[in-house]
Amino acid sequence: MKDKNMKPDYIIRATAASGMIRAFASTTRGVVEEAKNIHHTWPVATAALGRLLTAGLMMGYDMKDERDLITLKINCSGSIKGLLVSADRNGHVKGYVTNPDANLPPSPKGKLDVGRALDLGVLSVIKDIGLKEPYVGQTELITGEIAEDLAYYFAKSEQVPSTVALGVLMDVDNKVNSSGGFIIQLLPGAEDDLAEKLEENIKKMPPVTSMLCQGLSPENILKEALSGFELIINNRLPCEYRCDCNRERVTKALLSVGKKELKNMLEEGQDIEIKCQFCQKSYIFTSIDLSDLLKTDSSRDN
Ligand code: ZN
Repeated sequence: MKDKNMKPDYIIRATAASGMIRAFASTTRGVVEEAKNIHHTWPVATAALGRLLTAGLMMGYDMKDERDLITLKINCSGSIKGLLVSADRNGHVKGYVTNPDANLPPSPKGKLDVGRALDLGVLSVIKDIGLKEPYVGQTELITGEIAEDLAYYFAKSEQVPSTVALGVLMDVDNKVNSSGGFIIQLLPGAEDDLAEKLEENIKKMPPVTSMLCQGLSPENILKEALSGFELIINNRLPCEYRCDCNRERVTKALLSVGKKELKNMLEEGQDIEIKCQFCQKSYIFTSIDLSDLLKTDSSRDN
């Protein structure tokens, strides 16, 4: 159910300093609330997933082609165990955490302790841009807070100096109060003093969740971060949590387990329920469905 008073989620894309800086900012409260409702995540898991969903949306918006897809995947040793987010270029994102019940006491600063919930791990960025093999970049987690980990990924794997801020603020009643973030990148050839001035601006800013919580829009946030840089906001895109699963895709996944496995399932004679990891929609395959699948599958093999 959509909250009538809820401000719509969207992403903006901007440039500054005569094109030497590119920037994205977003507000994603609805997206994260939806993810929380689908996966029944505990607050620290909601915050971690929300941050990664927000990053995925902005990075997806940066892809070149309509059909391009980006996947952000984290495997980690902390109680969350792992996260996966997939976004397209049109403001659609979906994702899940391996352990939605991860629950930790707050950090010494009284914040949701995402860093500890992730702990050590690896971040993979997988870009499917229609080539035979997707582009995969991988870096280790630096703090587990996700924003710093992504900034490190951009610097190390893409050689793009970046400032990343991501935040999810939860209310005491377990509703998402606010969520969003920004990514600011310096393009090759940017002067050193540009980086210094940007760093000064960022240092003066309050955390992104405080700004969103005060009602500041993504536009306001970029204006503050890029004050003095002649900011030009180029585009604005609505965004939402959306899963595009369907029976055909689930069938393909089921076939990929192999014929022997399928036969075993059929012999057990029970319906198979497959749940989509992204939206929890369930797909039922009866023994009749399974034997039909085996028939078509073996005709394909021969
Ligand atoms: Zn789904």
